[in-house]
Amino acid sequence: MTAPFFLDAHLDLALNALEWNRDLTRPISQIRAAEAGLRDKAGRGRGTVSLPEMRRGRVGLAVVTQLARVNRNEGHNPVAAWQSPAQAWAMTQGQLAWYRALEEAGEFKMIASRADLETHIALLETYGEISTGCILSLEGADSLITPAYLERAYSQGLRAVGPAHYGPGRYAHGTNSTGGLPPLGRQLLAEMERLGMILDVTHLSDACFWEALENFSGPVWASHHNCRALVPHQRQLSDDQIRALIERDAVIGAALDGWMIIPDWVQGKTTSEERGLRLEHVVEHIDHVCQISGNTRHTGLGSDLDGGFGGEQTPCDLDTIGDVGRLCDLLRAHGWSVEDLTNFAHANFLRILRRALL
Ligand SMILES: [Zn+2]
Repeated sequence: MTAPFFLDAHLDLALNALEWNRDLTRPISQIRAAEAGLRDKAGRGRGTVSLPEMRRGRVGLAVVTQLARVNRNEGHNPVAAWQSPAQAWAMTQGQLAWYRALEEAGEFKMIASRADLETHIALLETYGEISTGCILSLEGADSLITPAYLERAYSQGLRAVGPAHYGPGRYAHGTNSTGGLPPLGRQLLAEMERLGMILDVTHLSDACFWEALENFSGPVWASHHNCRALVPHQRQLSDDQIRALIERDAVIGAALDGWMIIPDWVQGKTTSEERGLRLEHVVEHIDHVCQISGNTRHTGLGSDLDGGFGGEQTPCDLDTIGDVGRLCDLLRAHGWSVEDLTNFAHANFLRILRRALL
């Protein structure tokens, strides 16, 4: 049987192209070789994502980000932070220009409507050859100069927003930060609801998570998020949060970032090799979500494989995103049916997209 195609709910492609200076159209060996000797970022020379590898891994759909933070001079910041919202907005516009240029070059297809989505799925299901359809999401809303900018971003194709990233943001508190939604965050949620956008709860502080669910009645997902019961950290979802998401018929994307997969990981020090990190460890998180829901309808893939790290922090039995199909092999060995595997690989996230896109 042909493996189902994948929908990866979280990749930072444009950030890698512009901030890491990676030409993602090239083979992964060339991307790695071009970074030989560079020490400016962790994971240099060990990238796991390229467009050819995405096609090899049958990643037929991907939720891809625009991402630019505004500097609050606090806490850990894994990506560049700008001094003003205008600079951050300009950065996200540059990222958009990269997506558009690659679409024009035929490298992937941007998807912003239900018609785009159905046309692309028909192609995926008709031909063995996989091309990737990309849905735009904003990770951290700092770059929206005012909530009114959201409508402009929507007209450019943006369909999902995660209000927070790391630390305190302009619209919400994020990872390693505490506190509820500021007034700007509530305005943003109202505007997202008016436009029919998807709320991504990933990175929200606990207080913001609960307030966001209360103040937003549109479609919800947690694009790249693992389980706090297995790896205790505020970045992870508690069982109560997982239950609340299931109640909203949301989907949780399993992230392939080492420190969120196994406990006691020291970022920048621990390596996958020394801890024997395997995809089987990711399966434990997927299974935990399924045990709570009692079915396979709320789990998916949100690999985050290009989220500021490389092979030093990803499962040892995955060289590139081209190997994500091994997750399905493991789940099959755990007794998952074809329908269960399809749910995980793409059908669950697709259900949310079909609900949200007009
Ligand atoms: Zn993230």
